[in-house]
Amino acid sequence: MVSEHYIRRAVFPGSFDPITLGHVDIINRALPLFDEIIIAIGVNAAKNYMWTLEERIAKIEAVFKGNLKVKVTSYKGLTAAFCKKENAQFILRGLRNTADFTYEQTIAQANEKVNGVDSVFLICSPEYSHISSSIVRDIARNDGDYSSLIP
Ligand code: ADP
Repeated sequence: MVSEHYIRRAVFPGSFDPITLGHVDIINRALPLFDEIIIAIGVNAAKNYMWTLEERIAKIEAVFKGNLKVKVTSYKGLTAAFCKKENAQFILRGLRNTADFTYEQTIAQANEKVNGVDSVFLICSPEYSHISSSIVRDIARNDGDYSSLIP
């Protein structure tokens, strides 16, 4: 029996509006690194989402159904505070390009300095680097077919 102290737990935060093949790829490839991954939908009252929180949670749960290492939930406020509450030592993020890197760098540095939560980045698989939730939403808004971008 491994004690709670030794459970390597990561939070994968995001909007997941909606979850894409890019997200699924990052999570699947991160599974060997952690004992548990909490997919955490950040709720921001100022943001307009295309899918409701319940719909987004249901989609993610359907993808990882039966995988005991994956939990799905939502949170408000700072990601680092949520990590503390969940006893998660790591934040998992995916990087598609240098724009993602530039955006993530200062956030990751602040989270480590201020909260002691380290970020772990996986570089997106090349076949998914064009996929983003915002592209899916654009296609959906214009009645296009986005089925090849989502699980
Ligand atoms: P956010 O609103 O925080 O950007 P997203 O749901 O868009 O939330 O993304 C959550 C995480 O998934 C981020 O780390 C993002 O870089 C990563 N991600 C999104 N799309 C892809 C992709 N196609 N390949 C790899 N990682 C991705």
